[in-house]
Amino acid sequence: NSKERNIGKLIQDRLPAEIRDLLHLAGQLGRKLGLPVYAVGGFVRDLLLDRPNQDIDLVVEGNGIALAKALAEELRGRVREHQKFLTSVVIFHDAKGAESRIDVATARLEYYEYPAALPTVELSSIKMDLFRRDFTINALAVRLDSTPFGQLVDFFGGQRDVKERVIRVLHTLSFVEDPTRCLRAVRFEQRYKFRIGAGAEKLIKNALSLKLMDRLSGPRLFSEYQHICDEADPPACFFRLDELGILRAISPHLALTPNRRDLLCRLREMLTWYRLLYFDEPAQAWLLYFLGLNLNLNYAETSAHFHRLGLPEVKKTEILGQREQMRAVRGKLETWQRQDDVGRTKVSVLCDLLRSISLECLLYIMASTDNPGLQKNLSRYITQWRREKADICGADLRRLGLAPGPLYGRILKAALEAKLDGEAPNAQSQLRLARKMLEGVPESGGKSCDRPMRK
Ligand code: ATP
Repeated sequence: NSKERNIGKLIQDRLPAEIRDLLHLAGQLGRKLGLPVYAVGGFVRDLLLDRPNQDIDLVVEGNGIALAKALAEELRGRVREHQKFLTSVVIFHDAKGAESRIDVATARLEYYEYPAALPTVELSSIKMDLFRRDFTINALAVRLDSTPFGQLVDFFGGQRDVKERVIRVLHTLSFVEDPTRCLRAVRFEQRYKFRIGAGAEKLIKNALSLKLMDRLSGPRLFSEYQHICDEADPPACFFRLDELGILRAISPHLALTPNRRDLLCRLREMLTWYRLLYFDEPAQAWLLYFLGLNLNLNYAETSAHFHRLGLPEVKKTEILGQREQMRAVRGKLETWQRQDDVGRTKVSVLCDLLRSISLECLLYIMASTDNPGLQKNLSRYITQWRREKADICGADLRRLGLAPGPLYGRILKAALEAKLDGEAPNAQSQLRLARKMLEGVPESGGKSCDRPMRK
């Protein structure tokens, strides 16, 4: 009673050759070993939606690990097994030499002993495997070992729901079994511009009234939270989570105020701006949005949110410390700027003040201030000033006859500051400065690291 349809042509037309070859290879190996093998889940959903997805998840009816081993041999890769869950990952190098992986699971039936608990595992068929999935659009499979290749397996109306652009669950206990699905529903809804079906919405409300969010472990909540922050439009997800009452169910302090909404949107713009710069230091989206969601909350309230996400104490202390520091620095900057003083404040002084502020906190200040002068200075600091180095180096100082020691650092720092302030813009003027600093340093022939040596 699966809705039959062959999507071999879709696979041929829509997927890159390398992915197509992998699917055919898995099918051939399945045939050889007598094991039915399927591509499942998000990969099939995105194939129907014609969206790129490189994450192939395979499900095997029978011995999944045997198929994974055969696949690894063909791909000259290796297998990482999780015997307990009968799952494995094939890790190999693709044509470009990049590390790639394919998840291979064994079709299984999962029992949940109580809501939000980890499942115990038993062997079963593809139908049961698909039945335990979250939404109909994620419960599709393509059979790879059959002839003809590419039979779509759709027991639960996934094709219809992709077409109707709706998020539906497979059974009424879905959110009770796993409350993270409330967050996942919103994530997929916003990503694909689908809508959560009326039935599913009611079931989410029901799960919230049963306080099931409280049973979610910190790490699972954090993992979902991170996935949301990595979406193209996290604020849209947060707005919807708020509308459905999910944010409040996680913590009453997280309900979105107009200010928080506005800030979340500005943070998104800021991240987009930063990412377009292509710097090799990535900004942590989760942290930035975390700061935004905790706008106007005090230490204790924010601290409670850290605990709720299962984050370690040291991380909390570090980040909350950064936030305090940011608040202090921000106050100072805004005062300077109000007095129109930053123009007169030396760049080097500004840099000194900002040096200890994390990238995320810098982006946060930039997003949240309405002061265009401050925004401009922060933007110059992020893109330019903080990357600046003196044009002279230790070797230059050694050539001036200075023995390595703490004075090196002081001179190079002074050279950088003079460069930032436009007082010594090039190596020549910085060397002049170095010489000047060396005047008055007594000559010495000693080789001690601390004692300067003049030729
Ligand atoms: P994404 O594009 O975000 O990676 P995905 O659907 O591939 O989407 P994964 O989290 O990688 O998402 O999960 C892979 C598949 O596993 C899903 O398509 C779904 O079938 C199933 N799945 C994942 N999480 C759950 C869950 N909490 N409950 C039930 N099924 C789940």
